[in-house]
Amino acid sequence: MNIKELISKSSSEQRKALLNKEVSAQELVNAVYDKVDAVDSEIGAYNSLTKDFALETAKKVDEKIKNGEDLPPLAGIPLALKDNINLKSYPTTASSKILENFISPYDATATQKLKANLIPIIGKANMDEFAMGSSNENSAFKIVRNPWNLKKVPGGSSGGSAAAVAAGEATMALGSDTGGSIRLPASYCGLVGLKPTYGRVSRYGLIAFASSLDQIGPITRTVEDAALLLNVIAGHDEKDSTSLNQPAGDFTEGLKNDLKGVKIGYIKELCSEGLNPEVEAAVKKSLDDYKSMGAEIIEISLPLIKYSIAVYYIIATAEASSNLARFDGVKYGYRTKNAQNLYEMYVKTRAEGFGDEVKRRIMLGTYALSSGYYDAYYKKAQQLRRLVKNDFDNAFKKVDVLLSPTCPHTAFDIGSKIEDPLSMYLTDIATITANLAGIPAINVPVTVDKTGMPIGVQLQADCLKENKLLNVAFKLEEAVQFNYSIPSMSQV
Ligand code: GLN
Repeated sequence: MNIKELISKSSSEQRKALLNKEVSAQELVNAVYDKVDAVDSEIGAYNSLTKDFALETAKKVDEKIKNGEDLPPLAGIPLALKDNINLKSYPTTASSKILENFISPYDATATQKLKANLIPIIGKANMDEFAMGSSNENSAFKIVRNPWNLKKVPGGSSGGSAAAVAAGEATMALGSDTGGSIRLPASYCGLVGLKPTYGRVSRYGLIAFASSLDQIGPITRTVEDAALLLNVIAGHDEKDSTSLNQPAGDFTEGLKNDLKGVKIGYIKELCSEGLNPEVEAAVKKSLDDYKSMGAEIIEISLPLIKYSIAVYYIIATAEASSNLARFDGVKYGYRTKNAQNLYEMYVKTRAEGFGDEVKRRIMLGTYALSSGYYDAYYKKAQQLRRLVKNDFDNAFKKVDVLLSPTCPHTAFDIGSKIEDPLSMYLTDIATITANLAGIPAINVPVTVDKTGMPIGVQLQADCLKENKLLNVAFKLEEAVQFNYSIPSMSQV
């Protein structure tokens, strides 16, 4: 296999080529940068590149191979890092003007783990500003285009991470998921995207959007790669007080187990009404695949889903309004040049530094938390959040895994929803409940629609049941044999 083909394969194929000395890690990284040079002016997946760091890491990998030393499983495999995860001495902008010139003084815990595993970081991936969005049109710098069709959005907010992997500009990526931002772009770009259990992966060094919902997770070409990358980033971290004190374990364990006796529940409310017919057919076909593998299929009703968007957009914006208060022009980031006094400095810095969607969220969140409205909005949303979690707890007494589409439709045209925030918010209907409940969830690409755009199926499991979730996802991947390499991309 030539190196141009190799860069669009899974990590296990790339590792094989490295260990057999068919290519060096430095050659692999350089080939990925050639791809970035060829396509990224159109795709827009990266805000900045970290070439000296990536090549230095690849060199260490090559030395280890030369000396016959043990190599961590993902050593030398090129990765795109979402630009809200700190990488020491490089820019971390969260795609916001307010952090445009910010250089990280420290590494996120997830980044430290990537470094310890000798994973070359290719660059900082573009995203919706502060991870607020579903289409990656909210970046302050440039939009991201979907490599499957450049007129379509890649999904958001981790759109740069997903587009990079789909286009061969990285083999895998880290994203962050507050209401679907890993799973939605994975589904629009034909990739696997995993949001782990809340607390499974440290949030230390992730720029906070909504702290009770945010989780870092993998975007990859295969389920096995997602499990391997989760092995790298998971684990307790005393620097994050919400990090779970749980043994991380090996998430590839049980991946290939058969599904006899496994109970799969399809979510009634998400599997029929308002679905694009091709998405509906893909969901039905997945259920049939599972049935023929010996799984038991059960209908599950989660009636509170209809409130979840409202609940999410109160809680997430309330937390965001508080988290983003730190961007005031004093400690770091952008500061206005036209202020006459301190008050004006705060106001103008924030007015000039934040984009429209971020301002909308800060206003909504501040309103929901203000004294006259707290009980009516924020408190009520928290009560409903508990009820949503109870519904999931009851469902997981009956089934092992829940199945639904990841999104009711495939990737939409750039510009078609940006003027209508409410219709944009509705794209999250299937994904946000996992964040409200803290449970793990994964997108598995299953097929393409008649225009050639990928369709994804979402699987969700109870807290800490990633092994079961990955096992069920792996079996679906095996059954559908989705072809994740995009023909138009392999020609460049
Ligand atoms: N689309 C959702 C939002 O805009 C989710 C974002 C995310 O998961 N970061 O809030």
